[in-house]
This record gives sequence, C-alpha cells and structure tokens, in this order.
Amino acid sequence: MNIISSPKDMQSFADQARAGGRVIAFIPTMGYLHDGHLSLIREGCRHGDEVVVSIFVNPTQFAPGEDLASYPRAFERDCLLAEGAGATTIFSPAERDLYGDGYQTFVALEKLPFHLCGLSRPTFFRGVATVVSKLFNIVKPHVAVFGEKDYQQLLVIRRMVSDLNFDIRIIGGPIIREADGLAMSSRNSYLTPGERQRALCLSKALKQAEAMVRDGVSGAADLIDAARKIITAHPDAVIDYIEIFDPETIEAVQTVDGPARMALAVKIGTTRLIDNTLLLP
Ligand code: AMP
Repeated sequence: MNIISSPKDMQSFADQARAGGRVIAFIPTMGYLHDGHLSLIREGCRHGDEVVVSIFVNPTQFAPGEDLASYPRAFERDCLLAEGAGATTIFSPAERDLYGDGYQTFVALEKLPFHLCGLSRPTFFRGVATVVSKLFNIVKPHVAVFGEKDYQQLLVIRRMVSDLNFDIRIIGGPIIREADGLAMSSRNSYLTPGERQRALCLSKALKQAEAMVRDGVSGAADLIDAARKIITAHPDAVIDYIEIFDPETIEAVQTVDGPARMALAVKIGTTRLIDNTLLLP
C-alpha cells in the first residue's frame, strides 16, 4: 500500500493511474477507522482499481471549542485496517499542505446547511464542502464513497458535485452499527462505560419510530414526541434536534406518507452523537 502525504505527489499518482486507464475510488475520512469506514473502503473496491483513503482531521469543519485537539488519532493502526479492507493508497496530508499561509478560499452551499447539524454547527458544512473539494482536486477520483451515517453531509456533497460539475460519481454506504445498535463513530471512544450504555437511546428512538411507522402512525409530531421520551429518560442526554424530513430536500415533513428520513443529534455527557434512519410507511 502506498502512503502519500504531499498533495503534488498524490496528484501525480492520480494522473499516472488515470493515464494507465485505472479507475480511482476515493474514501475521505478523519481516521480512527472503524467498521463503518471499512465498509466504505470495501464498497470502493467494487468500483475502483485504485482505492484511495484520505486521513485528515480537517480543522475548518471544527468550531472553536469543539474537539479538534482531542479528536482520536491512530495512524499506524488505520493504515493496517485500511489495507486489510482493500485500500491501495493512503493520502494523509499535513494541515499546512492544505491550508497554507494566506489561505482564503471556501465552498459554501446556500440552503442545505441551514437545517439539522448546520444550525448548531454553522461553519461545519462550509469546512466539509471546502476540504472535500480540495481532496477531489488532489485525488482526482472517478468515484467517491460517503456514509449515510452523516446523511446531511452526503446530501451536501451530492449537491456540491452537481452544482460545481465535478465529474465524480458519489455512492452512499449504509450505516454500520455495533451489535447492540449504536451507530459506529470515532467519537464513541469519548464515552465512559455508563455513557456508552445510555448512548443506545439514539438507535432505540429511531427503531421505535420505524416500528410506529410500520404500524401505521404517520404524524411526524407523534413520532418525534415518542423519540424524545426515550431520550429524555436519561438525565445526561441533551437533545440538539430530532427531525423528520424529505430525504432529498431535507425540508421537514408533517406526515410520513412516503419515504422519509428521521435524524437526531444528542449530547451524551460532553459527546455529541448523531444517527438517522429511513422511515418507510
Ligand atoms: P469521519 O471519519 O467520521 O469523517 O467519516 C468518514 C466517512 O465514514 C464519512 O463518509 C462517514 O459518513 C462515514 N461513516 C462514519 N461512521 C459510519 C458508520 N457507522 N457507518 C457507515 N459510514 C460511516
């Protein structure tokens, strides 16, 4: 497996791969890999000859006071895991190589970020869209794979790729969960054993909504209320949002009379967790 840190070297590598007719699949990550990331790498292997995984904790998507400094890192372990899942190249730039002195160019969407996570993290999607654009220009992929775990992010990337005419196919991968239902996340490592147990309230709330919709409940307010009850049963769980929305536009829906997405963000202690699911009547 190649390990590349310079953007110029990555671009030359991508040019050579393309000149040789090889298809480049790309999986951007912030590292501290888990089975969710590995499932995206395996999906990448189905589409590309070169499977490039980036590992970069992107400072522009963290607000002051968020967990940039403490974000978990394990580079050598990540390389082994990525290689085991089929990655052919790791791209791991230094911060100064992506954001040098005088850096001032950002990519911002005008509508999608003004919902869900974008409300409590107002600069987050600007940071994500910017770094993903930069990574696309460096890795030059034909295909890129993103997880549905970050559902709003997936919509933002699809929109950006369409709006800015990136010639890249975006593939969404399903949410990978622990055996007890907790969505895998690098941030789960922050949870104490007690918090880890209480964090199950996110997936439980979503599972209950799925079951209620299957049983014929369609009022979004009723579904959200029932989810809120499960979560607020834990005194150290603080809800950021629980929303049910159109899976394409992210506009809130009142009635689940077709496919809808339910998403939530909850702080367990000091750790902010997100999760979502498809509601199918
Ligand atoms: P991150 O390293 O958290 O920035 O995530 C990198 C990619 O992995 C993003 O496309 C995420 O949506 C995806 N991802 C994170 N957790 C999961 C999960 N549990 N299941 C599937 N994909 C995931």
